[in-house]
Amino acid sequence: MGALMRQFNWQSSVLGPPQGWPTQLKQQVGIMLNMHSPMMICWSKELIRLYNDACIPILGSKRHPQALGVPVYETFAGGQDAIKPLLERVMSGESVSFQDFKVTMNRNEREEDVYFDFSYTPLTDEYMHIHGVLVICTETTAKVATIEDMRSTNKEISRSKAVLESDNEQLSSSQKKLRKIVYELAESEHRVRSIVENAPFPIGVYMGREMRIAFANQTIIDVWGKGKDVIGRGYRELLPELIDQAIFNQLDEVYTTGEPFHARNQRVDLVVEGSRRIFYFNYSFTALTDQEGKIYGVMNTAADVTDTVLAKQLVEETSDELAALNEELAASNEELQAINEELASTNEELNVSRQLVETANEELAASSSRLRMAIESTNLGTWEFIPTTGELYWSKELREIYGLTDNDATTLEAFSTHIHPEDYAWVQEQIAAAMQPEGGGKYDLSYRILRFDDHTTRWIKVQGTVHFNDGQATRFIGTAFDITGLKEAEEKTAKLAAIVASSDDAIISKTFESVITSWNTSAERIFGFTAQEMIGETIYKIIPPDRYDEEPIILARLKGGERVQHFETKRLTKDGRLIDVSVTVSPVKDAEGNIIGLSKIARDITEKKLDEARKNDFIGMVSHELKTPLTSLSAIVQVAKAKLNNADDPFLSGAMQKANQQVKRMTTMINGFLNISRLESGKIMIDKHPFDLEHLIQDVADEVKVANTTHVIEIDECHAIEVNADEDKIHSVISNLVSNAIKYSANGSAIMIACKRKEHEVVVSVKDDGIGVSQTDAARIFDRYYRVESSDTRHISGFGIGLYLSAEIIERHGGSVWLESEIGKGSTFYFSLPL
Ligand code: ADP
Repeated sequence: MGALMRQFNWQSSVLGPPQGWPTQLKQQVGIMLNMHSPMMICWSKELIRLYNDACIPILGSKRHPQALGVPVYETFAGGQDAIKPLLERVMSGESVSFQDFKVTMNRNEREEDVYFDFSYTPLTDEYMHIHGVLVICTETTAKVATIEDMRSTNKEISRSKAVLESDNEQLSSSQKKLRKIVYELAESEHRVRSIVENAPFPIGVYMGREMRIAFANQTIIDVWGKGKDVIGRGYRELLPELIDQAIFNQLDEVYTTGEPFHARNQRVDLVVEGSRRIFYFNYSFTALTDQEGKIYGVMNTAADVTDTVLAKQLVEETSDELAALNEELAASNEELQAINEELASTNEELNVSRQLVETANEELAASSSRLRMAIESTNLGTWEFIPTTGELYWSKELREIYGLTDNDATTLEAFSTHIHPEDYAWVQEQIAAAMQPEGGGKYDLSYRILRFDDHTTRWIKVQGTVHFNDGQATRFIGTAFDITGLKEAEEKTAKLAAIVASSDDAIISKTFESVITSWNTSAERIFGFTAQEMIGETIYKIIPPDRYDEEPIILARLKGGERVQHFETKRLTKDGRLIDVSVTVSPVKDAEGNIIGLSKIARDITEKKLDEARKNDFIGMVSHELKTPLTSLSAIVQVAKAKLNNADDPFLSGAMQKANQQVKRMTTMINGFLNISRLESGKIMIDKHPFDLEHLIQDVADEVKVANTTHVIEIDECHAIEVNADEDKIHSVISNLVSNAIKYSANGSAIMIACKRKEHEVVVSVKDDGIGVSQTDAARIFDRYYRVESSDTRHISGFGIGLYLSAEIIERHGGSVWLESEIGKGSTFYFSLPL
């Protein structure tokens, strides 16, 4: 610094050349330059800086040598503001010092923290005027470092003390624990041993370089598969199959180096129970060392990962496929999303359906057991035919249909010979066709068979399915059912249908609600309505409105199970004509006898009615014409008879008597015909007035007695009974019944007339012991012109009108007529009159 100062151009400085410097300054600079401690002088008001060599490191290369000879503020590191108050204090006479002030210096080519004590002292002249500041720096880095060291050592000591104290506590508690642990250890060693022994993964311990097995748990023993007796044997000797695998070397390496060996997913081939098998293990060999660190053995632990590895291999093998699939999947992902949405909605439906399915399933189970029962109870036969072997199996039911005994074998030949000859050819054709794959394998036929036992013909319905394998029929199974009854019924129905169709009568069926269900061709012809127009309509369409009340009456009688026969009435045709029909209605019953409808046969009797009317007119006319001469004849005979009564010739009086009788008979007959004709044309009149019935009966009996002497006429318990009726007509009824009794019974037999009074009516009966009337004839005996045709009646003349007229007369009085009779024993005819 001395040299620098001498070379310095002081001319431009406030201080001027050193020669002119005040003595104090010169002395101070001289001392400063010789000092080893850093010193600095700031002189004059401008505080021009001067410094020694020791200051150079403090200033650093950035300020040295520029700091020389310039105001201290210009080169002060912290700037004027930091130092100015301090220097001003010193320039006003105060000495200021700092201790252990930290300065960062670059002394030995590196930055370092250095500590200084700084002292700022005013520099004065002999008059104690202050001209500058002397700055002396004493380095305290070493001291500061020592103090720091001591401080940190102190802290550590106190920390260590605390640690020691707590260690001490722990130590004493550890000692207690230790004792406990020692006890527990003994326990746990036992436990560990048993755990290790029973561990689910293999553990083994091998001693010495020769790897003698010292410990092996059950799992490793099982893995080796060399039996239980392994302790004490050499590892290599026990597992010779490992010689060409890496394991022996690995064990040796661990034993030599002490470095543990770990293998993952390592294939190990072991011979288990005599056969070589592939395993995969994760296994470790760990060196076992004694207290001195000397290796004495190797511990082997392992985990059998065969399953995992195989699975992984499988995954890897399939991973290529998966990758391809993945692409496809990505593509279908969008579709899937759409489907997903649909699925979500379908899911709900599915839930509902699932419940339905569950119920259906239950029902299915129930119905399948029902089906089994049904098959058994309906005699549904089943069969199976194996075309390739010709085997034929028939169920018990089928054998019964064929009338086969248990001993009879079912062969194809037996089957063929029992097809009805007329059906044989086409049945064989159908079978052959069914066995062709093009045929669809379905088989459904009805044909006749001849039973084995009684050789009767039966109809069977056979249905089957053929199963094919490579176009070859392999199995033919199906069912068979005896439909003979059905066929017969069909034939019967067909016959009936033909009869119905060809009948001249209208045949109509209807429900109880009078709705028409069938309408044959004759119904179309007679009524003019087509079947199409009438089926579904009510029968009222053809009933004239004034006869509507007939229908409920007919229905009521039918509901009671009665038939309505030959009911003559009028019906309407499509073109509005009224036609006469005779109707017979019968109930239609089902197999159980329940009435399920009505069948009605209507015969068009218009022509017949016209014929009858014409005949009637004719009879009426003839009878009327005959009556006039007969009346004259009767009068003449009467007179002649009276005149000849006293004649000498007995023949003449007898003859007149007989002529009179014949004329009377003829008159009765002609009156009968006249009455019929009147009745038919509605001209008959019932002229009622009260009279005594007993009296009338007596009169009739008397009359008959006069004319007939062949029979005994008796009257039984008739009392005076007054009736209100047409006396003449009731007279003719009784007289007709009595004369019939005479006509149809043997001479000499008795005729009994009786009358019985009841609550609201009187019943008159005429009983004879004559030929009697059969049940069939009794039903029609009151019909017009009906006469019984038999050898007994052939010789008895008559027209069959007497009973008809009588019945008509009684019915018009509101009474009824009936008879009780037995062939050969006699008859009783009854009629009732309301009182
Ligand atoms: P007819 O003139 O034939 O006697 P009716 O109407 O009086 O006519 O009788 C009808 C038929 O009934 C007779 O033909 C006869 O066969 C039978 N008949 C009537 N009365 C008797 C009777 N008392 N005993 C047996 N048959 C009788």
